[in-house]
Amino acid sequence: MPLNSTSKTSPPPFELMERVCKRPWEAYLPPIKMADNVWYISGNDWVAAYLIDTGDGLILIDTAMQESLYLLVENVHKLGYQMSDIKKILLSHAHIDHIGAARALKELTGAEMYLGKRDLLFIHERKDLIMAGDYCCGDIEPDTLYDDNTPITLGNISIRTVSTPGHTPGCTSFFFDITDKNGQKLTCAMHGGVGLNITKKDFEQTGLPPTLRDEYIASLKSLDKESVDITLPSHTNQVGILLLVDQITDDFNPFIEPSIWHELMNERLERTMEIVRREEMEK
Ligand SMILES: [Zn+2]
Repeated sequence: MPLNSTSKTSPPPFELMERVCKRPWEAYLPPIKMADNVWYISGNDWVAAYLIDTGDGLILIDTAMQESLYLLVENVHKLGYQMSDIKKILLSHAHIDHIGAARALKELTGAEMYLGKRDLLFIHERKDLIMAGDYCCGDIEPDTLYDDNTPITLGNISIRTVSTPGHTPGCTSFFFDITDKNGQKLTCAMHGGVGLNITKKDFEQTGLPPTLRDEYIASLKSLDKESVDITLPSHTNQVGILLLVDQITDDFNPFIEPSIWHELMNERLERTMEIVRREEMEK
């Protein structure tokens, strides 16, 4: 089974975003257990949000879109939690599909909100770079900026952040260990943004520095050295998690597969180098 299945037949992201925002009920996905106490809960089948039960409150990674927020809220309740149990909201990067519901969630939960410092540019000066369409996104202001030397700790979970510029300047990746019910330690990780916005044309359009591409390449190479048992994709199609859902049982977690992380890093690196090679030839 292709674990790393970016299907050639999937519609382009804009169509997927339209579907999630305009007809969220068509995209509804109930909570998916990725690991003990770690859930995919965005409520839609396209862009991820993860809920982590730390034993002393919840951490939410990313928020998905404001238009589909009611489905995320429904999933939190389905798992038996209250919105006020969410104590920290970690944002991977300042694109609307990941932070669209951040303001509403801040209002709902009062949670401490985190963002990568270099994405302050987006929320303060370049809101045009947050949006990719006419969607709702309230103004946000992080309470705390990531410091890669200071893990984010709550209850029995400690999340290590790694600045991974490229997809956006402040894009941040997350690593944390959980102990499953058998006492096995498992490392979970989410790359903050492996979608590509890195052609010369992209940089001309956004005005972002082309050196971001070099940072992206360097961070993919560096992250490929990490050992990750469970890859948490920021979009479902990066890792074919929807293909694996049916295999989940009380005794089997299909997401435990250390090769997936390396496949994802290498596939994105290969695609990036292909763009670099093509542009070199066009010179
Ligand atoms: Zn993005």
